[in-house]
Amino acid sequence: MRWENLSINDRSTEEPALPIPMAGAVARTFDTPEFRGMTFYEVRAKSIINRVPGASRVPFEWTVNPYRGCSHACRYCFARNTHKYLDLDAGRDFDTRVVVKVNAGELLRKELASPRWRGEQIAMGTNVDCYQRAEGRYRLMPEIIAALRDFANPFSILTKGTLILRDLDLLKQAAEVTGVGVSMSIGFVDEALWRSVEPGTPSPRRRLDAIRQLSDAGFAVGVLMAPILPGITDTPESIDETVRAIASAGAASLVPLGLHLRPGAREWYLAWLARERPDLLPRYRELYGDGSYLGAGYQRELTARVRLAARRYGLHAGGMNTARQVLTSPQEARVLGSPRNGGRQQPEQLTLL
Ligand code: SF4
Repeated sequence: MRWENLSINDRSTEEPALPIPMAGAVARTFDTPEFRGMTFYEVRAKSIINRVPGASRVPFEWTVNPYRGCSHACRYCFARNTHKYLDLDAGRDFDTRVVVKVNAGELLRKELASPRWRGEQIAMGTNVDCYQRAEGRYRLMPEIIAALRDFANPFSILTKGTLILRDLDLLKQAAEVTGVGVSMSIGFVDEALWRSVEPGTPSPRRRLDAIRQLSDAGFAVGVLMAPILPGITDTPESIDETVRAIASAGAASLVPLGLHLRPGAREWYLAWLARERPDLLPRYRELYGDGSYLGAGYQRELTARVRLAARRYGLHAGGMNTARQVLTSPQEARVLGSPRNGGRQQPEQLTLL
């Protein structure tokens, strides 16, 4: 950890300290309904462009993550376990105790200017959401996008945050000079389920509206249709309704992915399932056993269902408009997210959820 020798030296008495101290860090709370119950740990990171470990099966090599923890609080979030490196828990702490790298923009500019940096693609939203609620206050993304624009460095963003629309002008400016991939994550459109399973996110309707606006602005918006929840949103009806909504919002492509249950996410999601749908626990035991992933047979069936629905609503490979296609593997997902205005093809961050 880059701030391992740091310690908190400026915080009020009510605010919980981080178990792992960070020098120069400031623990802060805000007395607004939006941030009630949350603590932000403002830190000055020592580096900001991260290399993805070689063993990771993801189609990108470099990432920028200005936050750790995510107030979007999705029960199934794969990133939960990363909070344990801070000696915080992967459940409520992940949702409410968020590390903010306040110098992310200035540091990125410095690293992009380094002769060692070779201008490779940078993926954002690959660990936690860079357009989570904190971004409304800290405004780290405008500085980050401006730096990437100024260095004409290609990048992609995957988010559930409609706050991305705030930065639309900057994104357009960046897309004039480099490849900019924009993807929205929408696994289902059922509003009651959304409130229960993704309680801190903008509603699926608002995300669909954001796709429309991004699409109208000239971006070929990709959708990560994930996670599809076994026994809940994997029915033909749910898939049909979701694909129809995504297609009519103007998305250019989508990637369907079933739920992964890695450690951290697994415990938190299964606790939710036990409360909300105990009848499904035997089915999950059957599907996942002690592992994190769904079997190949189930995945194939899921993909077939999505393909069927996608064809019905005009999202299909090799159709009239080649930009409107359904992508079904991380490899295919590499072509997701290129802007219509001539950006080059992008690797994407679609294997993580
Ligand atoms: S928005 Fe993404 S990073 Fe944030 S909690 Fe949900 S799944 Fe995790």
